[in-house]
Amino acid sequence: MSRESQRFDVLVIGGGPAGIAAAVRAAECGVHVGIIDDNATLGGQIWRGESEDGCAEEAAKWQGRLRSSAVTAFCGRRVFHQPEAGVLLAEGADDLCQLSYRNLVLATGARERFLPFPGWTLPNVMGAGGLQAMVKSGLPIQGKHVVVAGTGPLLLAVAAYLRKNGAIIPIICEQASWGSLARFGVALLGEPGKIRQGLQLKRELAGVPLAANSWPLAAYGSQTLERVTILRSGKAETIPCDYLACGFHLVPNVELPLLLGCQIRGGYVQINEYQQTTMQGIFCAGEPTGIGGVELSLVEGEIAGLAAAGRAADARKLFGVRERARRFARILDRTFRLRTQLRRLPSPETLVCRCEDVSYSRLRAYSSWRAAKLQTRCGMGPCQGRICGPATQYLLQWNPDSVRPPVFPARVESLATPAGAPELEHTAVPGGLR
Ligand SMILES: Cc1cc2nc3c(=O)[nH]c(=O)nc-3n(C[C@H](O)[C@H](O)[C@H](O)COP(=O)(O)OP(=O)(O)OC[C@H]3O[C@@H](n4cnc5c(N)ncnc54)[C@H](O)[C@@H]3O)c2cc1C
Repeated sequence: MSRESQRFDVLVIGGGPAGIAAAVRAAECGVHVGIIDDNATLGGQIWRGESEDGCAEEAAKWQGRLRSSAVTAFCGRRVFHQPEAGVLLAEGADDLCQLSYRNLVLATGARERFLPFPGWTLPNVMGAGGLQAMVKSGLPIQGKHVVVAGTGPLLLAVAAYLRKNGAIIPIICEQASWGSLARFGVALLGEPGKIRQGLQLKRELAGVPLAANSWPLAAYGSQTLERVTILRSGKAETIPCDYLACGFHLVPNVELPLLLGCQIRGGYVQINEYQQTTMQGIFCAGEPTGIGGVELSLVEGEIAGLAAAGRAADARKLFGVRERARRFARILDRTFRLRTQLRRLPSPETLVCRCEDVSYSRLRAYSSWRAAKLQTRCGMGPCQGRICGPATQYLLQWNPDSVRPPVFPARVESLATPAGAPELEHTAVPGGLR
């Protein structure tokens, strides 16, 4: 395994819109900048996998600025541990990087929230964004019937993408009520950009039924998914399909900020007006500070990058743009809040922790995430609670535990280096090793 070690004035973790904007703005100030992402290419959830020609105008603009800047990019490497203050370790397929920084920008994005229901572990029941990512990587979807369900604007974006690539979408089920969706529409009246996006989605999805007050009850199939039963405005209905693309909005990736000691408030990383976290020299931008779409991620990234490079006055000029983008985040949060009926989705036998095969009835015997973890191994498998953690938080109102290194599963070899070995009191749980 090869090793390398580099030092940066500003190091950015996460190569989505927030991370790219932070890296570009910091590098344009003349400081030495590195950016690292665990995927093969930069771009994050929204821009990754788009060919440069097919890139939206905004994406192409930022990718161009990144190319002409002096930013050092590390792709395919995941940051998993901080052996000492100001030093991070990142693991690649066959290497280990030790990256030191003066200032750090965390732009680790968000992931989909999954809620367990009977049949959700069947093959071809997938996250909505997950299925989109697989199609972007080459999964053939032409002629396949895909039911899209859950909540949030991502459902519409995914349905439109899949349809453009030849999928047949029999229905989009949105758990929010028609009233909430109507208020969402009215609240967006002052946002011409969002209205344009909405109208475009409406054109792309013409003829596809959108059912509000609707969600999946169960998925069925002998080897793989064959049909889905949905509750549509109070009535159960079964729909044959090849895929169920299902996600219940997004949850922020706060594990790395937590590991570095940053305070969390209301589930999000706490920041000041310059995007600085409660830890000196550590900034945070994009979805870990609030789920608000690509515009908010970009402007927060710009502010964080400028502030990390010592350009507070330039950062201040963007506060107004950020305030407008934050308004959209608040509207999203109100509209797509989960209804309490969804707590009844899992049956006693439904697996909630699919890594360690822990059923809902076993979990209900415990009163906290920690107790359940110790007694059942819930959250101790390869995903380290990234899927079942947010699900139990919603279903059972459990608070997630503190985070321990390694924050992602890592090779024993990487942990065994002098820099990589976690301190004794933080020894990684066995589920965190591979
Ligand atoms: C699955 C999914 C699909 C989406 N699809 C769309 C869409 O089609 N249209 C749309 O408008 N919006 C979409 N969104 C929402 C969109 O991602 C946001 O609006 C916005 O672009 C987020 O930007 P960001 O830079 O904050 O985060 P992201 O774009 O999520 O970028 C964060 C990056 O950090 C990386 N990362 C995290 N932790 C580490 C680590 N420890 N080490 C190294 N790298 C790390 C992640 O892999 C990711 O590449 C999607 C979101 C998700 C979760």
